[in-house]
Amino acid sequence: MGGNLALLSLTILVSLTLVELAWLKLVRHASYPWADVAASIGVNIGRRAIKFATAGLLGPVFFWVWDHRLWHMPLDGPLPWAVAFLMLEFFYYWEHRMAHEVRWMWAGHRTHHSANQINLPAAVRLSWTGLICGSWLFFLPVVWLGVHPLAVFFLLAVNLTYQFWLHTETIPKLGPLEWVLNTPSHHRVHHAVNPRYLDTNYGGVLIVFDRLFGTFAEEKADEKCRYGLVVPEMSRNPFVIALREFANIGRDLARARSVREVAGYLVGPPGWSPDGSRQTTKQIRLSYARSGETA
Ligand SMILES: [Zn+2]
Ligand SMILES: [Zn+2]
Repeated sequence: MGGNLALLSLTILVSLTLVELAWLKLVRHASYPWADVAASIGVNIGRRAIKFATAGLLGPVFFWVWDHRLWHMPLDGPLPWAVAFLMLEFFYYWEHRMAHEVRWMWAGHRTHHSANQINLPAAVRLSWTGLICGSWLFFLPVVWLGVHPLAVFFLLAVNLTYQFWLHTETIPKLGPLEWVLNTPSHHRVHHAVNPRYLDTNYGGVLIVFDRLFGTFAEEKADEKCRYGLVVPEMSRNPFVIALREFANIGRDLARARSVREVAGYLVGPPGWSPDGSRQTTKQIRLSYARSGETA
């Protein structure tokens, strides 16, 4: 059953990727970025290998929290499932937002943003270091509040699988769906480095928490998304892609002269520096807004 499901989802993912490949060739007359796609698949293989180990370590932690839960939410109908889904989306939003705002978490999540073009295979370019970056901590409250760990793992898998189809330029805006759902248009903005798009649209399946917490940005017809990182990743080596920022952090820590600097380099926003010689995304957005005022 599980094997059949895995085979079915792999068939769907590969078919959609082939449709996108045909679209790029026939409609865009663009060459297919084979080397980037190979790098994305390489990163995914590494992630799968590491996930085996992390699942063994984290499973017991989730079940320990389950044993000490606040109360029990029986998932015996659509309503409790809807509540569990909303809870997971809420905590996913904050996990994803922190993964952009705290450098230690960003060091892992940066992997997902490292592709310089958006395409379906780029969706599987995912972090290797969730365990040490602490992303799982954000989902323990869902268990503590009464959702069974297996249901949390299932909802997380749904969330992640849903996001596959968001990584493409083939799908335009989708009318009223754009109000509540995370769509390809919203997620293109999330992957863009244009100052007005930076650090926006963190939602998984839903976009409502971005609208609620002020991090929503709409894709503008007059501002085409430029994808990748503020400092672009040019390597196609999966190890470099997945681990570069940890090496950068190590170099910064070796230079740190106080506890404040150590803390800033580790848990400050990406781009933080003691002397302001680099720019955080907030500063990039601010200087962009100011240049607009003076233009
Ligand atoms: Zn992100
Ligand atoms: Zn993405």
